[in-house]
Amino acid sequence: MAIQTINPFSNELIKSFQEMSPEVVAVEISIADETFQSWRKTSFPRRADLLHGIAKLMRKQTDELAKLITLEMGKLLAQSYAEIALSADIIDYYATNGESFLSDQKLETEFGEAYIKSTPIGVLLGVEPWNFPFYQVARFAAPNIMAGNVVLVKHASNVPQCALAIQELFVQAGAPKGLYTNLFVSGSRIEQVIADPRIKGVALTGSETAGASIAAAAGKHLKKSVLELGGSDAFIVLEDADIDKAVDWAVVGRMNNTGQCCVAAKRIIVLEAVADEFLDKFKAKLSDLKVGDPMDEATELGPLSSEGAVIQLIEQVQRTVRAGAKVLLGGKLIDRKGAFIEATILGDIKPGMAAYHEELFGPVASFYRVKSEQEAIDLANDSPFGLGGSIFTNDIERGKRLAEKIDTGMVFINHPTWTQPDLPFGGTKGSGYGRELSSLGIQEFVNKKLIRVS
Ligand code: NAP
Repeated sequence: MAIQTINPFSNELIKSFQEMSPEVVAVEISIADETFQSWRKTSFPRRADLLHGIAKLMRKQTDELAKLITLEMGKLLAQSYAEIALSADIIDYYATNGESFLSDQKLETEFGEAYIKSTPIGVLLGVEPWNFPFYQVARFAAPNIMAGNVVLVKHASNVPQCALAIQELFVQAGAPKGLYTNLFVSGSRIEQVIADPRIKGVALTGSETAGASIAAAAGKHLKKSVLELGGSDAFIVLEDADIDKAVDWAVVGRMNNTGQCCVAAKRIIVLEAVADEFLDKFKAKLSDLKVGDPMDEATELGPLSSEGAVIQLIEQVQRTVRAGAKVLLGGKLIDRKGAFIEATILGDIKPGMAAYHEELFGPVASFYRVKSEQEAIDLANDSPFGLGGSIFTNDIERGKRLAEKIDTGMVFINHPTWTQPDLPFGGTKGSGYGRELSSLGIQEFVNKKLIRVS
């Protein structure tokens, strides 16, 4: 993919960037490795100071940074502001808590003394997606830099200005050169980077295809990997739920970031007894969304991230409908410039159809009616993905019991799957492995070294 800013609201090419040559990448890796040799010896307070400084700069520059997100990938401006705030919170969270998360762990052992020391492992590569261009990077870079590692980031090719702006925040905060390095390289050259002996691990947030390719390269070169991949979260509404609240949350869960969230409520599964009421209200709310420029605060449904994204999504919708599913709402491209598609609800979806098995990355909800809670759980689990999920009920104990039966990395009760700095994030099955955020996210790329005194 060309490294370019194309405004998805107007399809206008704003700026192009040159890919780095292999020689330049090699130099960047050398600088990063040299920096690691000194950064690994820095104290936790020194690392925390730097990270707090970056979070502060991020908040100070929130206007420009939020507008950059919206310009490059079309997120509604208010949501871009929220992303910057969340990213700064994540950076502060690791600056504040990193030292205690990595403190020595004393072991109860039969003889003598033993403890585990968490030590940094070196230069890490992060391969990041465009859908949350600051948040995804924050949750990879902040814990790893706090742990004493240094990072190279290959960002998605359609958000190059966000990629440069993040690197610039490190420069402005006085980070040593090589602590955080943006790499302008295409996905096809990532294996060469992973193969470099100075690279010690790789984290990807992205699609299954990229995950399989990066995991294969990491395996071949014996590097640790963490994969945060796609999802098709179930949003289960039981007959005892508060339907109005469930509908409001379904709109947020499915439409946040114009439906382009890994943990979006992609499959809405409703008990028969309340299915008609839920569907009528859900349809009404989605039909009311005001379509327009994502920079305009009044807009509620903006463009997808690119023309390519909208073409892929409409093809999945059409394939599902050709196979016998019904369009309950929307289902078409919006007749205007830019990457727009109607808010859509599909019904009568059966196994074998695209919407049943594939991730629909945009404002398209798959709606299912079920007769029992067991049928809801079986349907939720009949997916190649295992990222998040949610259950709406007025009986919290029932919600917890069912949550334990859902085969995913996260389940939320009476809320769509969500994220915050102190909650672990990650999945099972085709959604990848490993965790980011919380006390778990900082443990992925450290050496858990045993020290034993006899
Ligand atoms: P993508 O195509 O996989 O791109 C993600 C990143 O991987 C980009 O930097 C991309 O670079 C790079 N890439 C793509 N193919 C590659 C390959 N074969 N080898 C190495 N790098 C490669 O993903 P996307 O479609 O842009 O992003 C949306 C996907 O990310 C969805 O599936 C979504 O669910 C998932 N996601 C998961 C999480 C999570 O935490 N689990 C969070 C957010 C998004 P280029 O841009 O240069 O192609």
